Amino acid sequence: MISNFHTHTTLCDGKSSPEEMVLSAIEKGFSSLGFSGHAITDFDRSYCLKDIDSYIDTITALKEKYKKEIEVYVGIEEDAYQWTDRSKFDYLLGSSHYLKVDGIYHQLDCGADKLQTCLDAFSGNPLALAEAYFQQFTAYIKERKPDIVGHFDLITKYEESQTGWFLSNPQYHKLAEKYLALAAENDVIFEVNTGGIARGIRSTPYPYENLLYLLKKENAKIIINSDSHHMDTVDCWFAEARNYLKDIGFQFIYTLYHNEFQKVSLV
Ligand SMILES: [Zn+2]
Ligand SMILES: [Zn+2]
Repeated sequence: MISNFHTHTTLCDGKSSPEEMVLSAIEKGFSSLGFSGHAITDFDRSYCLKDIDSYIDTITALKEKYKKEIEVYVGIEEDAYQWTDRSKFDYLLGSSHYLKVDGIYHQLDCGADKLQTCLDAFSGNPLALAEAYFQQFTAYIKERKPDIVGHFDLITKYEESQTGWFLSNPQYHKLAEKYLALAAENDVIFEVNTGGIARGIRSTPYPYENLLYLLKKENAKIIINSDSHHMDTVDCWFAEARNYLKDIGFQFIYTLYHNEFQKVSLV
């Protein structure tokens, strides 16, 4: 059973239309496809949906049009700093893309240069940045309980190619594990996000491997998502992800099917 619940389109910052995404998913044999347009953040509208209601109408029309071939869901990706009305959507994907320091919202995933500016706001101390990020995100997860938690360790986006501030530091791992264990106390599903691989900047999904081992140990629920912005990458690294997760010890992942999040076997 193949599915994806982290999908962007030309209605926000994606490159393909919603219908192109649906057609690509049908061609690849998906059972479900969930859209997760970016909800509005007033402090930065550059990447957001322009009109939430017309987004809902567009995806709902596709849900009806292709109901014989695939289940289509209207989800939303909300940023931790600005909540949206979740009752309008089939599911809520909760993510953290910014860190607010002294009134400035620093972007974490829009280039290593912007992440550097954020680091400067922490006097160049990566552990202080990481602690603030995880603290903020974990508090959001506890309070909001999104259905799916997006890219838990997004601050490591440029780690392999440019930043190198976190993964070589054992103290970073301790910190990330401490906060992930807290987040895992909530009944949420953690996404294994292959988006960085599609962009060619990472070799493995979010979250990094040690955190996946921890999720396994905590018996947390996981889901495989591509965070796709283009119809060609809607299933990027999915087959590899299944094997990767099996090697870590997972036997099940979750999917949204027949309007319910349910367990499916990885074997
Ligand atoms: Zn995101
Ligand atoms: Zn996204």
